[in-house]
Amino acid sequence: MKFETLAIHAGQEPDPNNGAVMTPVYFTSTYMQDGVGRPRQGYEYSRTMNPTRKALQDCLAALEGGSLRQAQGEAFGLAFASGLAATDTVLRLLSVDAHVLAGNDVYGGTFRLFDKILRRFNLDFTFADTTDPESVADALTPSTRLVWLETPTNPYLRITDIRAVAEIVHAHANKPLLVVDNTFATPYLQRPLELGADIVVHSMTKYLGGHSDVVGGAVVVKDKELADRLYFLQNAVGAVPGPMDCFLVLRGIKTLPLRMERHYENAMAIVDFLANHPKVEKVIYPFHTSHPQQKVAQHQMKNGGGMVSFIVKGGKEAAIRVVEATKIFALAESLGGVESLIEVPAAMTHLSVVGSQLEVDPALIRLSVGLEHQSDLIEDIKQALEKA
Ligand SMILES: *Cc1c(COP(=O)(O)O)cnc(C)c1O
Repeated sequence: MKFETLAIHAGQEPDPNNGAVMTPVYFTSTYMQDGVGRPRQGYEYSRTMNPTRKALQDCLAALEGGSLRQAQGEAFGLAFASGLAATDTVLRLLSVDAHVLAGNDVYGGTFRLFDKILRRFNLDFTFADTTDPESVADALTPSTRLVWLETPTNPYLRITDIRAVAEIVHAHANKPLLVVDNTFATPYLQRPLELGADIVVHSMTKYLGGHSDVVGGAVVVKDKELADRLYFLQNAVGAVPGPMDCFLVLRGIKTLPLRMERHYENAMAIVDFLANHPKVEKVIYPFHTSHPQQKVAQHQMKNGGGMVSFIVKGGKEAAIRVVEATKIFALAESLGGVESLIEVPAAMTHLSVVGSQLEVDPALIRLSVGLEHQSDLIEDIKQALEKA
């Protein structure tokens, strides 16, 4: 089955008891057993598994697994209470003194978790420019157990060649795990497992949910043994989403392909507008001819996605004036919803990286381009830029 069909049907079958087409929200913490140690359908307790969560997990596996399912067996999905809960659980695969090599442009919250929390548990983190596969090769050490990258990154939209990095990482004697945070691309645009990654992580809060109404995270892997270790951690650590959250993400995913196409069309129109605007110093977008890795992006992504960054002339003050002047673009953190959002990462989402090597240009504005009409969005940016 093709992606659009899987997005609507994978993991979800009409209820055999009553024909309900939509997966019910199973508000139950526990399940009656037929005898001691004999649960009816494998369900015992909802931290361990819940039918609504199972539908979502199976759907995620189908979407990220894609052609893997036919070629090499299955993929396995796990849902979490947030993207960071997913990240934290993945890092618990490691033991004391393991080295983690991460991209130098990772999501601010990921950096904070690594730098402020997990370092205290004696995990060692270094950060490298993963857009250059050679610098990944140079930064691997004998104790590297995990390599973490994001592509496109937030907010610079830098692109890493997943296949090239996977080859380098897997040639290393330790066979570190390669993790790709696929939040910005979504499985509709890019499937890291097919390109050689071992683990895919998502903030479902963003495009997968797609309607700014739920917080959630996901992990998808293709190796059964790795999946079993993660299911164990998911249950043992317990950072699981509730059934209502799972339902909202399942519903959001049904329209993911349509939404990603329109996010792209709208983003491209805005990119063209910004590229020719006298108050814009630079526009950053993976599929734009000015992007240094446009070729890699076009090779591994179906389209350029809905995130656009640009640097406005006039520095921090100008950037703040612009984001406070839009009327349709809402001044807010987060991204990936149907509504357009605008923010200044240096002063908002990326405050936690100020003073670190991940610091962001204070004049950089990040757009999450939504699904409103293109011309309304362009008019809005246009009038806001007049205040720059
Ligand atoms: C938002 C985000 C996260 C964290 O996800 P939460 O759901 O907010 O915990 C991780 N990675 C990226 C790229 C994100 O945008």
